[in-house]
Amino acid sequence: MTADSYGTLYIVSTPIGNLKDITFRAVEILSSVSMIAAEDTRHSKKLFQHYNITTPSISFFEHNRTARIPQIVTNLKKGNHVAVISDAGTPGISDPAYRLIREAISEGITVESIPGSTALIAGIVSSGLPTDRFLFEGFLPPKKGRKKRLMNLIDQDATIIFYESPYRLIKTLKEINEILGDRPAVIARELTKMNEEIIRGTVSDILSYFNNKKPRGEFVIMIGKNDTNVFFK
Ligand code: SAM
Repeated sequence: MTADSYGTLYIVSTPIGNLKDITFRAVEILSSVSMIAAEDTRHSKKLFQHYNITTPSISFFEHNRTARIPQIVTNLKKGNHVAVISDAGTPGISDPAYRLIREAISEGITVESIPGSTALIAGIVSSGLPTDRFLFEGFLPPKKGRKKRLMNLIDQDATIIFYESPYRLIKTLKEINEILGDRPAVIARELTKMNEEIIRGTVSDILSYFNNKKPRGEFVIMIGKNDTNVFFK
């Protein structure tokens, strides 16, 4: 088979909460490909049922990627179109899809993105922090290397965006306060969901907010740059 007859790998963005945040094209592609590689097939079932998508799906996540990538690539090389989706948002943004994408590219397979939701963009545009320059840091490492990563950010002339789990939110905010200082900060919680919440202030304001409230759900942390004068009144 030549590259001309290979199938296409579609990188399909799915909702980050609200099931309606998906494009017509995404639903069309998910319904027409031969196979969907989904981070968690049980989780994605809800989306498939909502849009009546009956395409066969296989799981593709961090711990089975070594075995799965060659299977998916073989499928694509046979001429089958495959869509990759993650649990939420855009595949490849803080999830293992990028490894599949890299492998497909190196095998001469066409890769096409079907754009849509991603938490960092939904978060930064609602934050009120400057959007002219921003730096996406993703997740800090859970244990080693956190402080070093933060120290490298001290002089960045940009709004900095982090992803964080509820379990490490407080720890991360405390370390940000210690290393980057008490800068303007915004937390976007549960974006597009029923309990969406945007908390604006400084890093210490946000820490105080969570003093009496256990962090729950999904979070984007956004930190203003060092000399920013965009404080919230
Ligand atoms: N691929 C996804 C994207 O495009 O945003 C990100 C996947 S990453 C494994 C999951 C992290 O994204 C969460 O821990 C949280 O930091 C952020 N996230 C995802 N959905 C979110 C939401 N509805 N509200 C706030 N943050 C969210």
